[in-house]
Order: sequence, then structure tokens, then C-alpha cells
Amino acid sequence: MQMLKNAILSKGKAINRDVLLVDSFLNHQVDVELMRHVGDAFAAYFAGRGITRVITIESSGIAPATFTALALGLPLVIMKKQTSRIMTGDLLQTTVRSFTKGTSYELTVKRQFLNPGEKVLLIDDFLASGEAAFGVLHLAREAGVQVAGVGIVIEKAFQAGHQRLVDAGIDVYSLARVKSMSENCIEFVD
Ligand code: 5GP
Repeated sequence: MQMLKNAILSKGKAINRDVLLVDSFLNHQVDVELMRHVGDAFAAYFAGRGITRVITIESSGIAPATFTALALGLPLVIMKKQTSRIMTGDLLQTTVRSFTKGTSYELTVKRQFLNPGEKVLLIDDFLASGEAAFGVLHLAREAGVQVAGVGIVIEKAFQAGHQRLVDAGIDVYSLARVKSMSENCIEFVD
């Protein structure tokens, strides 16, 4: 998606060879016009597959997932990274290791938002090692829900996540695939 690649090149900043900062348009300040195009691109690719819900992980996946859900006319479910006193009832939970923070969190969702037999689409901001996506796959399996695909805004193609998901039989659609990056150069696949 050229508009997204342009934003990455002009506003993104690789702080080292592994971590890309995109906080001026994706996960702190949000370019909503760009997110509208992102949502439309995911909706066009995943339309017609009988998907019943869009799923994301708080907080950076919320903006692209919202526009995707809007374009598909579907509800959005936000998986939580921490529980609270008001998060009660029948919960599904799994531990995920965070790539950016180097720590772990409890990915949590209320079972009532994942009904057995449903087909869901996972949308997230980044794909790195795939730990977050596999956490969602794990909870979906526990709920008896099929993950019909994974839509990623920025994939770091030099990390293992994409191949791990493909090996698990998942259709992964990434709008920008970064081949390599350093402080002064970001290269894309293709
Ligand atoms: P994974 O679980 O695939 O290793 O990492 C995916 C999650 O880590 C994403 O949801 C994203 O929030 C975060 N993440 C991974 N790599 C980056 C990165 O280079 N930049 C930013 N801003 N977040 C990242």
C-alpha cells in the first residue's frame, strides 16, 4: 500500500535494526485518513469470507481494526492486556511475551464475545515474532472460533512471525512488509 509506505518512509523512525517508531501516525498520534485507507484495504482483501467479528489487541491495533470493522460492517472486539476489577465473568486468558517491552502480559477476553462456530479476523499494527497473534489464535481455539485471517499494518518480514503463521495455515495479509531497516534506511519487500 503506497500511501502507508510513504508514511513509514517520511515519518517512521527505526531506532535500531529491530524496532520501528511510528508514533506520529499509527500508535500515539493517529492519521485517521490513512487508517481509513488501511481499513478499506483489509476489508477489500477479507470480504466475502463469512467473517463475523474483527478482533484486535489493545492499544495499538485499535485504530486500524476500527476502520476495518467499519468497512466490513462488523463488530470489533478488543482483547485486553490487563485485567481489572470490572473485568469479571467467564474470561479466556493466555500469557503473551511482548516484543517491544520485553515483558509478558495476560491477553484477556470475555468468552461472551467469541461465540463457538464464529469466524474472526485479527487486525494488528505490527507483526514481529508472532507471539501476540499466536496468543489470539490460542484463545480463539479455546473458544471454538476460527481465525479466518490476520491483517497486519506493518510486518517486519525479517522476523519469524509471518512464516510461523503461514506454517500454522493462517492467511496473513500485510500492507507494508519491511525487508530491513537501520537508522537511516528502511527497505520494503517487493
Ligand atoms: P510480536 O508478538 O509479533 O512479536 O509483536 C507484535 C506486537 O509487538 C505488536 O502488537 C506491536 O504492538 C509490537 N511491536 C512489534 N514490533 C514493533 C515495532 O517495531 N514497533 C512498534 N511500535 N511496535 C512493535
